[in-house]
Amino acid sequence: MQLGDTRRILVTGGAGFLGSHLCERLIAAGHEVICVDNCYTGSKINVRRLLDNPLFEFIRHDVTFPLYIEVDEIYNLACPASPIHYQFDPVQTTKTSVHGAINMLGLAKRVKAKILQASTSEVYGDPAVHPQTEDYWGNVNPIGPRSCYDEGKRCAETLFFDYSRQLRLRIKVARIFNTYGPRMHPNDGRVVSNFIVQALKNAPLTVFGDGSQTRSFCYVDDLIDGLMRLMDSPDEFTGPVNLGNPREFTIRELAETVIRLTGSASRLIFSPLPQDDPRQRRPNISLAAEQLGWQPKIALEKGLGRTIEYFTATLPSAR
Ligand code: NAD
Ligand code: UDP
Repeated sequence: MQLGDTRRILVTGGAGFLGSHLCERLIAAGHEVICVDNCYTGSKINVRRLLDNPLFEFIRHDVTFPLYIEVDEIYNLACPASPIHYQFDPVQTTKTSVHGAINMLGLAKRVKAKILQASTSEVYGDPAVHPQTEDYWGNVNPIGPRSCYDEGKRCAETLFFDYSRQLRLRIKVARIFNTYGPRMHPNDGRVVSNFIVQALKNAPLTVFGDGSQTRSFCYVDDLIDGLMRLMDSPDEFTGPVNLGNPREFTIRELAETVIRLTGSASRLIFSPLPQDDPRQRRPNISLAAEQLGWQPKIALEKGLGRTIEYFTATLPSAR
């Protein structure tokens, strides 16, 4: 099936925020891409520029059910990622991570494909080790409102490593830290899209808690570059590997930066911090630098500028 360096690649969750950027980059690199998505949080609109491309195919399918196709590589991204979306139907969220992983690993086993899992910094929970290194086992509440996502992703990692040890599958596990950019869903509740949309409408920016909690924000292009390098790395390197931007900001700093960059008249309003909201988060990316020669290149203000441009162009009510 593999002609030269052209591969047939399955991207689950390919019509979502990260998945749509990944599909575009893989097509631009000359690969054939099959995008599988049930459009739960994603949309065909995100991949509309690819629909006429003969190298691209869209299949509406839920990964909690088996899938029979022939591919060389699988990027498993299917899973709602924003707290509002993954908490809306928590049972389905766990099923997507766990049954979805079992189905995609089964597919990889049958067709001998290499498979990459989009895991998350949430496997570290509210971390007691800072910055987070891959050998830290995390501090996760197993029964809270975020657990469907955190524990689902942790179980998926377990499955990946068991399929690797037991069945010799070629696996890659990326632990993705907060990533932002064009095509985030305007209502998905994640902090970067929320603040930009609110600022463009001159509405108050909704800071949860006192805004002293931290996150480290990676621009989407950098993240996709990291995922592709990981897939192309030698088989011996499985990860898990952190992919994220190590520059750490408080949520209050983010809000003030968004107001400045948009020139908005918005002010900040404060409401209680959601349960189990991690206090701090910053990746140690030494392993990615050493094994993949990867580090993010796009600084927060530049990435926010591009994201603000996107929302200005796409939001009907934006100036
Ligand atoms: P997203 O919600 O935009 O994309 C997820 C996609 O998966 C959507 O298109 C959705 O419709 C699809 N999907 C959900 N359940 C499915 C199912 N059962 N079957 C088929 N498709 C299904 O989110 P995103 O930010 O693009 O995240 C993509 C992946 O990266 C997720 O696995 C997420 O956990 C991981 N991740 C993202 C971030 C981030 O900051 N963006 C951070 C850590 C991990
Ligand atoms: N947050 C906020 N206002 C919002 C949305 C989120 O202050 O309108 C905070 C949230 O409490 C968290 C941080 O921003 O501390 C990042 O939230 P997000 O949902 O983007 O991602 P995650 O918590 O999964 O890292």
